[in-house]
Amino acid sequence: MRKKQLEIFLSNLKEMEDPDMFEEQYTTPGDIAAEIVLFAYHRGDIEGKTIIDLGAGTGRLGIASLLLGAKKVYFVEKDRRAIEILNDNLETLTLKSNQILGEYEIKDGDVLNVLLRGDTIVQNPPFGTKKRNMDTKFLKKAFEIGDVVYSLHKKGNYDFIRNVALENNFELVEKESFNFPIKAMFQVHKKRKVLIEVELYRFMRCYDGSERRD
Ligand code: SAH
Repeated sequence: MRKKQLEIFLSNLKEMEDPDMFEEQYTTPGDIAAEIVLFAYHRGDIEGKTIIDLGAGTGRLGIASLLLGAKKVYFVEKDRRAIEILNDNLETLTLKSNQILGEYEIKDGDVLNVLLRGDTIVQNPPFGTKKRNMDTKFLKKAFEIGDVVYSLHKKGNYDFIRNVALENNFELVEKESFNFPIKAMFQVHKKRKVLIEVELYRFMRCYDGSERRD
């Protein structure tokens, strides 16, 4: 599937009408979601792989993975309203995509309690602004259950995050920057959209000391 097609498909999926700001429910825009998953695809981390989408929300990252040939996608999300929309979006995917898709399964519950195992983790976790350290908690879980991790973070914590990875036997191997638009849903946000700088990190498990490049 071409990038533009993927972007359009993802942008047309349903979003949450009334996102919960305390849970930092920021839907990844279609173009950014497409770029993230294509980035992973070109590194051999999507096609034929088992993917876990942590904090899946309405499902864009996992759905892009299915469209790019994932073998199986687990969507982990705890918000019932998000899961309802995710179900609608998966129905749209089944109806509208004219290709054979991998399997998928929704895990309704807290990311921090999941006992899954996958090849690749994709996540746009809460940035940890409202609930402190939530981004780090998501990361540690991702390092427990996957071998390659793609995670979106607010810019400015590169060294800290790299160290969290090293402590968990993962190496931060690549990054890409994006401007992430957040719709003005707080009263404190005067503009309609605010752009925040975010970075996508790719982490890989170190299998023994010799693979680490310190
Ligand atoms: N991945 C989606 C949504 C990102 S917003 C996208 O890229 O569009 C982060 C999501 O994580 C929200 O849907 C929120 O409800 C969910 N979330 C936050 N904390 C969670 C937790 N502890 N367990 C499960 N889901 C959680």
